[in-house]
Amino acid sequence: MERIYIGMGSNLAAPDRQLRCAIEALAHLPGTRVAGVSAFYQSDSLLTGQPRYTNAVAALDSSLAPLELLDALQAIENDQGRERLERWGPRTLDLDILLFGDQLIDEPRLKVPHYQMHLRAFVLYPLAELAPADFLLPDGQHLSDLLAACPFAGLERLAIA
Ligand code: ATP
Ligand code: CA
Ligand code: CA
Repeated sequence: MERIYIGMGSNLAAPDRQLRCAIEALAHLPGTRVAGVSAFYQSDSLLTGQPRYTNAVAALDSSLAPLELLDALQAIENDQGRERLERWGPRTLDLDILLFGDQLIDEPRLKVPHYQMHLRAFVLYPLAELAPADFLLPDGQHLSDLLAACPFAGLERLAIA
């Protein structure tokens, strides 16, 4: 059993509903329990001209292997109408494995910790709602240091959905 953090994002087709639907799907994965979900946060897309994003983080306790979990997440994305047209294009649902216990994973299909999580406010602030105050990432970085270096500006925390 590992504690896993999943970054969720959507900017198409009622993003808040997409995230709620994804949380429901995560709860039904075999050998998996949803231990917590952050508030939802809105922010402008990193790319101009795209609709605003809703993002959140979910904490899972799961006995799935990392690649089994990635397969399951991609199946949920596909079930919710994800089309892979262009890299970083608008999407109904994006599910990224941010952290998988304290594992460092470097496989062609899966890099953990997620390569940009330490730079993304829409990942770090929701993660901080779920993780312990002195949370140490497996690569030795303190979450509090990452937060201090990553302005909240541009994020809008929504009331719990
Ligand atoms: P970004 O990775 O910058 O957040 P993205 O989420 O839009 O961009 P995708 O098109 O969803 O990128 O994913 C591209 C590939 O990234 C996936 O097919 C998957 O194999 C790979 N990948 C590598 N590491 C991870 C991870 N930690 N979580 C999810 N996918 C990953
Ligand atoms: Ca992503
Ligand atoms: Ca992704």
